[in-house]
Amino acid sequence: MDIIRLKSVFKQMIWGGSRMIGEFGYDIPGDDTGECWAVSAHKNGDCEIEGGEFDGMKLSELWETRQDVFGNAGQILKDRLRAEGIEADGLPVFPLLTKIIDARQDLSIQVHPDDAYAMAHENGSLGKTECWYVLDAEPGTTIVIGHNAKTREELADMIENGRWGEFIREIPVHKGDFFQIYPGTLHAIKGGTMILETQQNSDITYRVYDYGRLQNGKPRQLHIRQSIDVIKVPFTGSEASDKGRPMSAPEGCGSSCTPLVHCKYYNVRRLDIDGKDSYIQDEPFLICSVIGGEGRITRTGETDGEVIRKGDHFILPAGFGGFTLEGGMRLICSSI
Ligand code: ZN
Repeated sequence: MDIIRLKSVFKQMIWGGSRMIGEFGYDIPGDDTGECWAVSAHKNGDCEIEGGEFDGMKLSELWETRQDVFGNAGQILKDRLRAEGIEADGLPVFPLLTKIIDARQDLSIQVHPDDAYAMAHENGSLGKTECWYVLDAEPGTTIVIGHNAKTREELADMIENGRWGEFIREIPVHKGDFFQIYPGTLHAIKGGTMILETQQNSDITYRVYDYGRLQNGKPRQLHIRQSIDVIKVPFTGSEASDKGRPMSAPEGCGSSCTPLVHCKYYNVRRLDIDGKDSYIQDEPFLICSVIGGEGRITRTGETDGEVIRKGDHFILPAGFGGFTLEGGMRLICSSI
C-alpha cells in the first residue's frame, strides 16, 4: 500500500485569518479561515483521499471498510475504551484528528471533556485530549493554560461573576513550543498564534467565556454548567507527560526524531530532516504533516520516491515498512 494523501477541510471562524494562503499555499474559503482539518475522519469534516488506490474515498469510509490499512488500531482502541469502563459496540471511530489553527484573534476560553463525560453527555462522542506544536507566534503573544481557583465554589463564583482577570492563567508562547492539554484543562489559543494540533477525534468544546463577542449580531453559545462540571480544580500545572518512544529506525538512523509526547491517546514526534534519514513504519498507521521545507520520501527497495513539501499531510499505512526521508524539512508525525 502507498502513501495516503488527504485533502484538507477548512473552517471559517470568528477569530480566523488568511495566513494559511501565504504559509502553506492553501486555497482557503475566506479571510476568516481558522482551521484546516488536515487528517480527519470526523463527520463535521471528513477528509477525502487524493490519488492512489483509495482516490476519492472519505477517510471515515476507508477506516470502516479497510481495517487492514490501519493494522490492529481498531482493537487497540476498543481495549483502551474498555480499560476506561466504556464498552464500544462495533468499531470505534478513527482515533485521531490533525488540524492547523490560524488564530488572527483570540479563541474563546474553553475546556474539553474526557471520554467518560463525553460518552455520557455528548451522544457517545470521544473526549478531547489535544496537543499543540507552535508553528508561529508573534512577539509578546501569550496562551491561556489553567486557572487560579482553589475550590470548585471559587471556580463557579469566578465564572458566574466574570472575574476573568483573577481567574485565568496566561503564559508566554514562542515558535517551536509544545503543549499537552488534558481534558479538564482551561485553555485558549490567543491571536497571533499558528499551531499544528494533534487531538482525539472529537469536536466537543465547552465555551466558558467569549469576550462578549458577537457573531452575526449574536453571542456564540456558552456552556457554563458543563464547564464547571469538567474543569479540574485546583489546576496543578501541566501533568508530567511521558516524552514517549521515538519511531523505529534501522541501526545508525533515526537521529532526526524528537519525541514530543506519549499519552494513552497518541504518540507525537517531530522529525528534522537535514540531508537523509531512515525509519521503519511498524505502527498501526502513521500520520505525517510536513510543516516546513521540502524533500522526498522513498520506500525501501524502491528508487524514485515521492516529493513531499510544506503543507502536505498523509498517512503511512500498516506494514509500510522501511522508508527514507531526504531533503531539508520538518514534520510532525503521530500514531496511537
Ligand atoms: Zn481546545
